Amino acid sequence: MAFNDLDLGERLDIAREGTAYFAQRLAVLSDADFDGPSLLAGWARRKLIAHVGYNAAALCRILDWAATGIETPMYESMEQRAREIDEGATLSPGSLRNLFTHTAAQLDEKWRILPDPAWTAQVRTAQGRMVPASETAWMRSREVWIHAVDLGNGGRFEDIPEVVLDSLLDDIVGVWRRKGEGAGLALEVDERRLVVVQEDAPPTDTVVGPLASVVRWASGRGAIGLSAGSDLEPPRWL
Ligand code: ZN
Repeated sequence: MAFNDLDLGERLDIAREGTAYFAQRLAVLSDADFDGPSLLAGWARRKLIAHVGYNAAALCRILDWAATGIETPMYESMEQRAREIDEGATLSPGSLRNLFTHTAAQLDEKWRILPDPAWTAQVRTAQGRMVPASETAWMRSREVWIHAVDLGNGGRFEDIPEVVLDSLLDDIVGVWRRKGEGAGLALEVDERRLVVVQEDAPPTDTVVGPLASVVRWASGRGAIGLSAGSDLEPPRWL
């Protein structure tokens, strides 16, 4: 089952659950913890929290685009995106908590009031792909579920819904395929799924484990709980 096979309402619910999960992890961080490292190399937690807040604001912009037909990109440029995150990271912990809560509520409101025909309107992602506005449910789900783990205070891939993990694996392998990476690599999810990354190259290395562990490894977040392939490095994803 892939995320986009679900009804729109279910997809939005999974995004909302991810927001709630991120909010729980955030709530148990002390203000001082904001200065600590996230699981993203070189990113303090405060920078990650700013990024998740500004991501919701950027998704609001493309939902406005879908609703009005007036083109409003997620970000003016990758430089503007990076600058906004860097500046946001200097906000006080209280302001960062507000930023997260406020932008998440705004996004939820945009979803709630978006007129039916606008869900299929084409909008552009930060990577330049044209997608229907309904794709924002997946774009947000990815961000909140993975980055909740990246906060590094107890969030676990095992808590992420299976359909999100399955679709993350599709996304990651899709990127590797487009970039021509991962020849000879196969991923085996315990007795349920085998993915040969480059189908024209016979597998020489296989990573085996439960779904959550395979996705954690493939997303570059370490080898925990794998039964084979722990010594392998995944190709870059993002
Ligand atoms: Zn992100």
